Amino acid sequence: MRPDAGVAVAGPTRPAERAAPAGRAQATAASLAIAGLVPLSTCDWPDRLVATVFLQGCPWRCGYCHNPALLDPREPGRLPWSDVTALLARRAGLLDGVVFSGGEPTRQAGLLDAVRQVRAAGFGVGLHTAGAYPRRLAALLPWVDWVGLDLKAPSGRYDDVTGVPGSARPAFASLRLALDAGVALQVRTTVDPTVLDELEVARLSALLAGLGVRDHVLQEVRTEGVRPEYAEALARAATARA
Ligand code: SF4
Repeated sequence: MRPDAGVAVAGPTRPAERAAPAGRAQATAASLAIAGLVPLSTCDWPDRLVATVFLQGCPWRCGYCHNPALLDPREPGRLPWSDVTALLARRAGLLDGVVFSGGEPTRQAGLLDAVRQVRAAGFGVGLHTAGAYPRRLAALLPWVDWVGLDLKAPSGRYDDVTGVPGSARPAFASLRLALDAGVALQVRTTVDPTVLDELEVARLSALLAGLGVRDHVLQEVRTEGVRPEYAEALARAATARA
């Protein structure tokens, strides 16, 4: 573990956490549909050594999604939550934290319990999200140390990237929540060349800077793992730009 990377935590760093209303059962971490667990990653949270938990299911259908097997919310999990806690027990002092990724991890209500368990065990918590569920994100933010938020396009082109009508609204609402929470935030845009041109990307970067985003990273579409029809659309877009 890097000497400057320890994130010793036992409770929320921000004061917005509230107890669940009395009588309403909360989903537990044991209910999570977990698609995968990477026991050691150096790239999922900048400057941190983490374990990464991939949660099943996503409501959006981005053409460039390189892990479409994680999208179907009806797919059962492949490993139990106890595998994650057992790993953390073995790696105490060796890992800085746990990153929850997907899919869209905030889709599953049991994530909040999982995040709280990870913090109670003394690990930091990172979250990859596209912001599809802002109310869930609002409940999670007080317990999260770092967020990697995928912001896909200017609002007028959002649905063309996600394939789902109305997707810009929750995404930008989630961005607002993360900014207002003051959580460490990296906004990432995977530039979909079948939808966005350079001018639109520049406008998005300017918009995000104006909203207060200090860390915006542009990422190239990865071709491996994408559906054949999207690979063909990419090839057509490349030909059109040549
Ligand atoms: S939001 Fe992420 S996980 Fe969901 S379809 Fe898009 S790229 Fe894939």
